[in-house]
Amino acid sequence: MIDFAQTVKQQADIVKVIEGYIRLRKAGAQNYTGLCPFHKEKSPSFSVHAVRQFYHCFGCGVSGDVFSFVGKIENVGFPEAVRIVAGKCGIPLPKREFSSPEEAAGARLRAKLLELHETATAWFQEQLAGPEGAVAREYLAGRGLTPEGIKTFRIGYAPDSFNALRDRLSGMADAETLRASGLFASKEHEDGTQGSIYDRFRKRVVFPICNESGRVIAFTARTLETGDKAGAKYINSPETPLYTKSLVLFNLDKARKAIREMEFALLVEGQMDCISVYLRGIKNVIATSGTAFTEQQVALLRRHTSQLVVNFDPDAAGSNAAEKSIALLTEEGFTIKIVTLDGGLDPDRYIRERGVEAYTAALRGSRRQSDYLIERARASFPGASAEQKVKAMNYLLPHIRRMPEKLAREQFAADASQKLGIDSAVLREELRQAALRRRDHVEARATALTEVERVLLRALCIDDPEFERSRRLAIEALAQQPAWFEHLGAFAALQALAGRATRDPMDVVEDPAQRALLAEALLAETKPPEEIELQSALQEIQERAIESRQRDLRTLISEAERRGDFAELATLTQQKLELDRALRQLHNQNPPER
Ligand SMILES: [Zn+2]
Repeated sequence: MIDFAQTVKQQADIVKVIEGYIRLRKAGAQNYTGLCPFHKEKSPSFSVHAVRQFYHCFGCGVSGDVFSFVGKIENVGFPEAVRIVAGKCGIPLPKREFSSPEEAAGARLRAKLLELHETATAWFQEQLAGPEGAVAREYLAGRGLTPEGIKTFRIGYAPDSFNALRDRLSGMADAETLRASGLFASKEHEDGTQGSIYDRFRKRVVFPICNESGRVIAFTARTLETGDKAGAKYINSPETPLYTKSLVLFNLDKARKAIREMEFALLVEGQMDCISVYLRGIKNVIATSGTAFTEQQVALLRRHTSQLVVNFDPDAAGSNAAEKSIALLTEEGFTIKIVTLDGGLDPDRYIRERGVEAYTAALRGSRRQSDYLIERARASFPGASAEQKVKAMNYLLPHIRRMPEKLAREQFAADASQKLGIDSAVLREELRQAALRRRDHVEARATALTEVERVLLRALCIDDPEFERSRRLAIEALAQQPAWFEHLGAFAALQALAGRATRDPMDVVEDPAQRALLAEALLAETKPPEEIELQSALQEIQERAIESRQRDLRTLISEAERRGDFAELATLTQQKLELDRALRQLHNQNPPER
């Protein structure tokens, strides 16, 4: 795998590959820039170096090579990223190569599980169409689903049997694989061993859950029973090697194109709501499954949009999961609008009772999150008493602090004090402080590099044998006089680079802030520094070091004078004279050009 990856990396053009995902603009001789796909931004801080084949974002600090980019944006591991890049560059794949037998076995298992899920999906669809599926068809029709809609979402029916699916799949895989699929359950014996497997989903309408490429990786199943026998209304596949609940957003596979086109996503809570809305032509809709958003889901969504319209059940809007999701999305810089449907209806019923136009109108009327929150604060703590206003404020403060952008926070605070009729200077000050206090999400660009640092960084990144002498000079100086360099902002990067041998510079610097400095130097480079440039940089460093020591001495000397410590004073003065002489000598040897 590693060898093949090297070959691919040499042949792949990182600029072309990244341009397949985002728009890039030429920004220099060897570099390109664009809007970062990994964080929300309005002006580009994402750079790609065409020659050194790395990308770096000065906003959020991500950086890496072509595989790391593809891995991040496609949400896949290294081997898969290599395969994707190879595919894009038309490099034929070797017979599947894996770095370890475990990895190979894992890939085989996942491939098998996908096959089982595909077969199970088709089989559930057949059951829905067959005589046993009549009750399920009736239920779906009652929810307004047409046969086309059922086909689009590949909805099926799991018959009332403990072994029908097991019998269908048993010829395809061994017992252990079937167990791993999550499609079956088993009872645990008293001695801790597992009993034989039986169908997990029985007498239920089955909805496939797909990964981003549209392959079925799990199911959620709704009961058709009522009363005591019914069990849970919905049951889901457990986590399996294919399915990690926190990594999936329902319907993202079908919605992603529309999300990109419309530049926002509609987020609803239930899968049924999602299906219903989608089938009526609102295609940018995705669903959580009643649990709070995870950071991975936020990251998944951010690759497509950072604008959300949220339409949760009215009774759920105050629920923990919904509130947590909104809080996390706000912190991550998403712009959120909230829809509330009147009549207390969920999206599915609203559309069925009032039509899709009414629903679209409701979406257009969605309110900014801040307005929605202020409204809630007012409704929860009505009245004009000072006590109620303090309560309303306390409700709003955490929401205000959570907003990553300062302007938005200030606006929110101003709106809140106006709409809540807060005229107390104390309360207004509290709001203002909340707006000020939070550090801005996207850190300001790290300290600019000095010219000396630029030269040193570039020298240590030299790969061209013709300039090897410059690199050696820098390495030796760092090894012999580390104290000269300690005060430099890029000291850690310099140290890491000095020991890099033939590794890629961007790979050896691990600290994100240091990597940002290195990226900055490399993105600005034109050609490697000449020996003479290096010598003058080193001389300047030495001068700075001496001057800094002189300043320390001057402080010590004046303290010694104040104390009347004449012995100390003599020693210090002697040291200072030596430094003065060293500095003069340095100038005489190599007069500075300034
Ligand atoms: Zn970024």
